[in-house]
Amino acid sequence: MVRSYPRTPSSDREDAGRLRSEAAEAKHTAAMRAAGYEPLEPCPGNGKPWRSRHLPCGNIVSPRPAYLSAGRVGCAECAKESRRAIFQERAGGAGRAEADMRSVGLEPMEPYRNSQTP
Ligand SMILES: [Zn+2]
Repeated sequence: MVRSYPRTPSSDREDAGRLRSEAAEAKHTAAMRAAGYEPLEPCPGNGKPWRSRHLPCGNIVSPRPAYLSAGRVGCAECAKESRRAIFQERAGGAGRAEADMRSVGLEPMEPYRNSQTP
């Protein structure tokens, strides 16, 4: 006689779902770290705001992983900083604006052009 300890199908499905979400979370966490964020809570899902510390500036922000993977900064403070750098460029020079961007952890993707340049 075979003794069996039945596992219910539903617990199998939950295990598989948990493993999938752990793999997804590891992937999203790696993407957040690559973008300069240290997640402060479990991944809420790819399309949802994720409370994290932005390491270059230390601010707590809630970017969406999908937003970051599109190559955006996601940090309002750093976005303000780069706007400030643009204002400084008008008063100073492109070199200073680029130095400011680097100081907040951003590498300019192309030479700075002001709004008058087509
Ligand atoms: Zn920031």
